[in-house]
Amino acid sequence: MIKSPRGTRDLLPPDTALWNFVEAAVRDVFRAYNFHEIRTPIFESTELFARGVGEETDIVSKEMFTWEDRGRAESDRGQSLTLRPENTAGIVRAYIEHKLWERGLNKFFSIGPMFRRERPQKGRYRQFYQIDAEVIGPATAGSQSPVRDAEILELLATLLDRVGITKWTLELNSVGCPADRAKFNEALRQALAPVVGKMCADCQRRAVTNPLRVFDCKVPEDQPIISTLPTITQFLDEACRTHYEEVKQILNAVQIPYQENPRLVRGLDYYQKTTFEFTHGALGAQNAILGGGRYDGLSEALGGPAAPGIGFAIGEDRLVLSLTETASAESVLRKPDVYIAPLGAGMNREAARLARELRRHDLVVDLGDESFRIKKSFEAADKMGARYILIVGENEVAADAFALKHLASGEQVTVPRAELAQRILQK
Ligand code: AMP
Repeated sequence: MIKSPRGTRDLLPPDTALWNFVEAAVRDVFRAYNFHEIRTPIFESTELFARGVGEETDIVSKEMFTWEDRGRAESDRGQSLTLRPENTAGIVRAYIEHKLWERGLNKFFSIGPMFRRERPQKGRYRQFYQIDAEVIGPATAGSQSPVRDAEILELLATLLDRVGITKWTLELNSVGCPADRAKFNEALRQALAPVVGKMCADCQRRAVTNPLRVFDCKVPEDQPIISTLPTITQFLDEACRTHYEEVKQILNAVQIPYQENPRLVRGLDYYQKTTFEFTHGALGAQNAILGGGRYDGLSEALGGPAAPGIGFAIGEDRLVLSLTETASAESVLRKPDVYIAPLGAGMNREAARLARELRRHDLVVDLGDESFRIKKSFEAADKMGARYILIVGENEVAADAFALKHLASGEQVTVPRAELAQRILQK
């Protein structure tokens, strides 16, 4: 038997109803903040991620699904392509490629699958879904302002509340600008030198190439050492400190609670100034629902104009997982309003006509087959959770009035064709 590949999964009904519920709510919230949807390709040239995410990150160095194109054309052959492991780089590429700033567009969102070769476990998959948002634009459009950072964080709080996730924690930090990070990296290097021999192989490599990435380490034995390392906060320059302060003041003003976490440096190299994560207790080890930060230098790193930006990615799988704590998929699933049961030969055509009429009234309608007996029709209607069953037999067709039975109460009435939709719409 052929099974879905390791780390991938099928999203099945009724769970897909929860996914749709989340996506509909998310779209509503984005609309209120004037974000527009963007859809970029699922694969991009490998170089985009090497430059846009960072060669030293776990994502690029270990987790990407990369292949060499086997195309016939000379121009395709040998090109290195990669399934997107995240979508900020793709959106910024599109921003540059289409000069989106010229159209006055600066707030984007996107929903879709990402791919990382990780060790699968609950809440961690090789194909998973992200809801991404990016605010990017020329500094003259205010894209550098702490107002944007606070707006994004307030949007996220609204979004989580809207979908019904209440027990979240916002962790906040500033990782400063490149000059601050250079100083901090040097301090880390010195602090790591005497202890790094006792740390994991990854940390030993990071200590040399990019000490900041030591904070990505998940090895439990390394954590006591990591907790003694200096933090970025002391190294922030005046401008970064003021920016961070203003973000916090606006959050206070709009009453969004947060916890400062000076060790939150996030897995991507391009982050500057504000970084954040929202966590949720119910998710256990994989407790980050979403993460993001400011990436003022990314557009230039990808060959574009200066375009400060800030964005986030919500792990949709984890969002849905934490939702299942409070809402069952059944509760958001729209069940059939009516099940049409054609009884006896020649009734299929009449049933099809009725189904078409009722569906035009935005009713959810399912129907059986005239070969079904009445008992089997009732069983089918019951199993799918229909509210009513509508009997279509020869007598009904002759009278142009149909037996409509409310399944929960057992109450049955005869309703003229013209009044059927209204009758079913009444709760
Ligand atoms: P990142 O792009 O690594 O900052 O991740 C942003 C969010 O995506 C995380 O907070 C997770 O919720 C989610 N996420 C990242 N990797 C995975 C994965 N392998 N499986 C499921 N969700 C993931």
